Amino acid sequence: MATKLAAVRALINEAIRAVDAGAPDAEALCVMVKMYASEEIFKVCQHAVELHGGNGIMLEFGIEKLLRDASLFLHRDATVDISRFKIVKAMFPQTAGIYAGPEK
Ligand SMILES: Cc1cc2nc3c(=O)[nH]c(=O)nc-3n(C[C@H](O)[C@H](O)[C@H](O)COP(=O)(O)OP(=O)(O)OC[C@H]3O[C@@H](n4cnc5c(N)ncnc54)[C@H](O)[C@@H]3O)c2cc1C
Repeated sequence: MATKLAAVRALINEAIRAVDAGAPDAEALCVMVKMYASEEIFKVCQHAVELHGGNGIMLEFGIEKLLRDASLFLHRDATVDISRFKIVKAMFPQTAGIYAGPEK
């Protein structure tokens, strides 16, 4: 769990540096952070529920609330599936999606 959080923080810092520097990969890195952080934080919260055993799912302990809150980030501001499309598009703006035709 600590390793996942450290990896998420490292990628966030990388994206921050890219945005501050106006780097060409800044957009892709920002979407990567959104997708990766959403998935890893959800896993961390899932582990937290499991390691608390039965108490993990009891309302009184507040742990299940973390998992419910984390599930939001998989969907809001584009789902993780759509984020994957955005990453490919940011990395290959000239060619990504050409076989699927123009966006509606
Ligand atoms: C708390 C919260 C806040 C939000 N805030 C905003 C906001 O401010 N602005 C805004 O515009 N939207 C917002 N959304 C909507 C969010 O960005 C998603 O677009 C929306 O939840 C997905 O639409 P849907 O529920 O109709 O699911 P669907 O579009 O039916 O998707 C269901 C599942 O299918 C997948 N899927 C859908 N289309 C494809 C595809 N072409 N390829 C692969 N997989 C696909 C999705 O990833 C998802 O897992 C918010 C959502 C939440 C939960």
